[in-house]
Amino acid sequence: MSHKILLIPGDGIGPEIVNEAQKVLDSVAKLNGGAIEYTYGLLGGCSIDATGVPLHEETLAKAQDSDAILLGAVGGPKWDNLEHSAKPEQGLLQIRSALELFSNLRPAILFPQLAEASSLKSEVVSGLDILIVRELTGGIYFGQPRGIHINDAGEREGFNTYRYCESEIKRIGRSAFEMARKRDNRLCSVDKANVLEATVLWREVMRSLTAEYPDVELTHMYVDNAAMQLVRDPKQFDVLVTGNMFGDILSDCAAMLTGSIGMLPSASLDKNGHGMYEPVHGTAPDIVGQGIANPLATILSVAMMLRYSLNEPTWADQIEVAVSSALDQGLRTADIYSAGTTKVSTPKMGAAVVSALSQ
Ligand code: NAD
Repeated sequence: MSHKILLIPGDGIGPEIVNEAQKVLDSVAKLNGGAIEYTYGLLGGCSIDATGVPLHEETLAKAQDSDAILLGAVGGPKWDNLEHSAKPEQGLLQIRSALELFSNLRPAILFPQLAEASSLKSEVVSGLDILIVRELTGGIYFGQPRGIHINDAGEREGFNTYRYCESEIKRIGRSAFEMARKRDNRLCSVDKANVLEATVLWREVMRSLTAEYPDVELTHMYVDNAAMQLVRDPKQFDVLVTGNMFGDILSDCAAMLTGSIGMLPSASLDKNGHGMYEPVHGTAPDIVGQGIANPLATILSVAMMLRYSLNEPTWADQIEVAVSSALDQGLRTADIYSAGTTKVSTPKMGAAVVSALSQ
């Protein structure tokens, strides 16, 4: 089976980590008698330098013509002084919006070998494997009207609008139910239905979807309780689904349970499962070019890509087992290093995963 992948290394450490992820993808394809066809695209700062804009139409056309997209990260101090609308990060927002990537998947997986890296007790987080599904293109971050105005009392007043229509809730709901089906068939919908009408509708629509997914157990939780439960007993969850703002906050909270930002993959999907995969972290300007960046978040993003867009779950499992095996050997990049383990470079960590794949 051949898959067409658009690689967008981006800025900063992006090229270093995407390079290792590509080697892993090539190896897993070879191992299974498959093939990968690559195209390459510019996004962010490097695109501004080469084309004058953060997202060039050529990159977008390649993205639309690919089976999936693997992105490193974009941005950096070189472009920090550009005006807001011209910054590298705008390229990211533009490509997400142009491709209608409304479903953001943020797994929080803690490899048991790294349990000590978490700020929580290891027994609370060891073996953690949860998935947060966040609505990415609606809610209060996009709702109109919004702004800052002078109110009737002559005082400045800031305002935003939290709105979701039924079709938006349905499509993120279906995306989450589908994810739950690929895992443990348990879905927790997070809202604030005791206060916000928009989320009363959210809860009603989520409940209505159970008719389509009778095999998935749906529960509901208020967002304040969900935040508390995530740090009290995160392993109670399988899949959580929530709106844009709650998802933004809860997914960062869940990410930190795992201790290192260098380990966290993510996916953003459209309604057909076409998507863009990227590590949760940024371009790490403080370590760029030193060969010490952790490539595992990007490698684990490749595993997600195989599972969710390319329908190759076995290849995905093989990559995740290989990552675990590299960690079992005591190999650590600097960000996850602890006494008694062996510190390795970015290419050495990539090579260890490649070598574990063929064992
Ligand atoms: P960052 O994630 O780049 O770095 C935060 C800290 O984590 C740094 O100390 C960095 O060295 C470390 N780190 C990050 N990834 C690592 C890895 N793979 N291995 C080891 N250490 C790693 O966040 P920041 O410093 O806030 O942002 C830097 C730039 O990245 C900014 O321009 C920001 O806009 C951009 N950014 C881009 C994305 C994206 O492309 N999706 C996401 C976040 C930030």
